[in-house]
Amino acid sequence: MLNRHKSLIARVLAEGTGAAITVKPFVAGGRQGLKMWFDDLDEKHGPIAELKPYGLLTHRVKLTFGLFSSRVIAQIAAAQVEELVVARALVRSVATVSELTISGQALDSWSVTDGSFEVIADYRHQNLVPDSDEAVVITCSEIIVPLMAAMAELIGYDQVENPADSNIPEVEGGLSQATVSRRERNPRSRLLCLRIHGNICKACGLDPARVYGEAGGIIEVHHLEPVSMLEKPRPYDPEIDLVPLCPSCHRAVHTRRPWPLSPSELSSILESLRA
Ligand SMILES: [Zn+2]
Ligand SMILES: [Zn+2]
Repeated sequence: MLNRHKSLIARVLAEGTGAAITVKPFVAGGRQGLKMWFDDLDEKHGPIAELKPYGLLTHRVKLTFGLFSSRVIAQIAAAQVEELVVARALVRSVATVSELTISGQALDSWSVTDGSFEVIADYRHQNLVPDSDEAVVITCSEIIVPLMAAMAELIGYDQVENPADSNIPEVEGGLSQATVSRRERNPRSRLLCLRIHGNICKACGLDPARVYGEAGGIIEVHHLEPVSMLEKPRPYDPEIDLVPLCPSCHRAVHTRRPWPLSPSELSSILESLRA
């Protein structure tokens, strides 16, 4: 039965993580579950997420590493601070909707150091039986996509460049244009930004899913201000540095340089024109 939703789940996973992921339904004890892993690492050489019904209303999601993951774990140990910040923020966003434990480590300071690393998230459904396809699809997008995105960020999957949107807004000053546009185009940053702020334009309030339905995945991520241009430099924080904007508003805020318009400045302009 889940086979019908396999391609939908795989698409949501690919969009959120920026990596190709294999989705494999299985049945254990008469109940259906799902296993997922990165295509290029298979189920032995990298992280695996497993989803199973747990009791009457809950899904238990377990993220573990395959037996032969030492190479990818060494790669993860070499991740940049900024990647670790994004990965931890993604896992924190999962902890806000589920009961989450990370193999004896704290939510704000965990790291992957060996193959015993394990994340367990229990996600309780309100009105759905966990054996239903609908519940499985929800658990995937609420829990598994951000967990696998955190792993993808640490492993360092490169985002696929889309030549069609090569007109990167220009930013000058302390942070290089490349750094800002990399943050704005990183699928994991985008996922994190949407999980924190919702899928709505912060300047004009456009909710693309309501206007365009299934074709509504058009919200873009905007990096508010080049951090190193701030009077008091502070570390990059994806939770306050990134906001969702619709494509039109995103283009509009970048018409001012080197400092883009803030979303609230653009809102005031929109309001004054409406008046
Ligand atoms: Zn907008
Ligand atoms: Zn921007």
